[in-house]
Amino acid sequence: KVRNGHEPEFLQAVEEVAETVIPYIVKHDIYFGKNILLRMVEPERVISFRVCWVDDAGEIQVNRGYRIQMNSAIGPYKGGLRFHPTVNLSILKFLAFEQVFKNSLTTLPMGGGKGGSDFDPKGKSDGEIRRFCHAFMSELFRHIGPNTDIPAGDIGVGAREIGYLFGMYKKIRNEFTGVLTGKGLSWGGSLIRPEATGYGNVYFANSMLNTKGDSFNGKNVVISGSGNVAQFAAEKVIQLGGVVLTMSDSSGFIYDKDGIDEEKLAHIMYLKNDKRARIHEYLEKYPNAEFHKGETPWGVKCDIALPCATQNELHEEDAKKLVENGCICVSEGANMPSTKGAIEVFHNAKIFFAPGKASNAGGVATSGLEMTQNSLRFNWTREEVDKKLQEIMEDIHKSCIDFGTEEDGYVNYVKGANIAGFVKVADAMLAQGVI
Ligand code: NDP
Repeated sequence: KVRNGHEPEFLQAVEEVAETVIPYIVKHDIYFGKNILLRMVEPERVISFRVCWVDDAGEIQVNRGYRIQMNSAIGPYKGGLRFHPTVNLSILKFLAFEQVFKNSLTTLPMGGGKGGSDFDPKGKSDGEIRRFCHAFMSELFRHIGPNTDIPAGDIGVGAREIGYLFGMYKKIRNEFTGVLTGKGLSWGGSLIRPEATGYGNVYFANSMLNTKGDSFNGKNVVISGSGNVAQFAAEKVIQLGGVVLTMSDSSGFIYDKDGIDEEKLAHIMYLKNDKRARIHEYLEKYPNAEFHKGETPWGVKCDIALPCATQNELHEEDAKKLVENGCICVSEGANMPSTKGAIEVFHNAKIFFAPGKASNAGGVATSGLEMTQNSLRFNWTREEVDKKLQEIMEDIHKSCIDFGTEEDGYVNYVKGANIAGFVKVADAMLAQGVI
């Protein structure tokens, strides 16, 4: 707290882990007295750099770029790049810290990192995005590499941006390597990577429901966000027979009481991915739906909630509303969307609650599979990758049960994910000495 008091999101993420991991450390001699958590909260390296680029009006713009190389005990740093005006060290350190545990949970050999910029992609032309990405990579390239640090996408960084970033890396280094994941299919990408985080979240939620013989079939599902994670979470929910009632963006949410079916979802994908429009334009085609300006969707009655937009978007009051309305399962697609108070409400109500570091790990897991395919110079089929993704999500679910089952049988998935993620990284750090 003394060192990081000015970084509230980072402190929030660390506190959540510390609360569950410290009691475990105290009970296990191999971890006790080694300052292992103190070492984990300090990034191995923090890189901050200037990004200068020229906008369409010919003005020189200056942004700040970052890469947090958090922990490389079990593999090269791995984690996304976020382009959003709110990006700062606190947010990136929280994301990098979470990433260490998440990557460990996937069972794949990946350390944790995160990066990005306070650049705001909204309203920028394609040329401006391209020039910014090229400028960003003209510095980042010296800090990353296929065996050192392999960035990916996150908020504001999708397939288009990964393309521009990869192009500049390849030009400067004069090598074609798997240095970024989320690449296009024809130049090293993996099938199922775009779908993986959203699909993985639904697979995880389904595993939770299965423990009580339940499933998505016929369930009302409320989703926030309408970006990459939200879109494919919605697609998988529909495939499993659930009814998607809401989607959102930073301007508000749409509520379609008739359900967002495949055709309507395709329209949302067109609006957000091709037209880069705001979510309320959905009503121009589907006027029976409602638009709730500036609101989040947690007041809509549902069985299952999938927060898939951003951090701290679901507060204690929202959690109470969800529980009062009969919600039985909350599975995080975004990183840390639920506040501490909200998580307490879910735990007290003993409903299923999956923290993002477990339930959204399918994205980075499939990035790991993309890295494997790049190394093999071979591509697996859609079915092969999807099967591996499902197996990984089941493994993560099992780890959470192993480490998170309470005396009364309730599974605390937060505790389970934190301890399972911690053990593998801590063991590697201890084996490697004081470094
Ligand atoms: P996108 O940029 O594709 O979509 C983000 C969505 O969230 C948009 O609908 C956006 O609305 C909304 N949003 C962003 N910021 C805010 C805000 N401050 N308030 C309200 N809504 C907001 O990002 P992703 O779908 O890739 O990422 C979503 C979440 O999932 C993030 O937390 C990310 O870290 C996490 N995640 C993503 C992974 C991936 O593979 N992509 C992997 C694991 C986690 P608008 O368009 O108005 O900005």
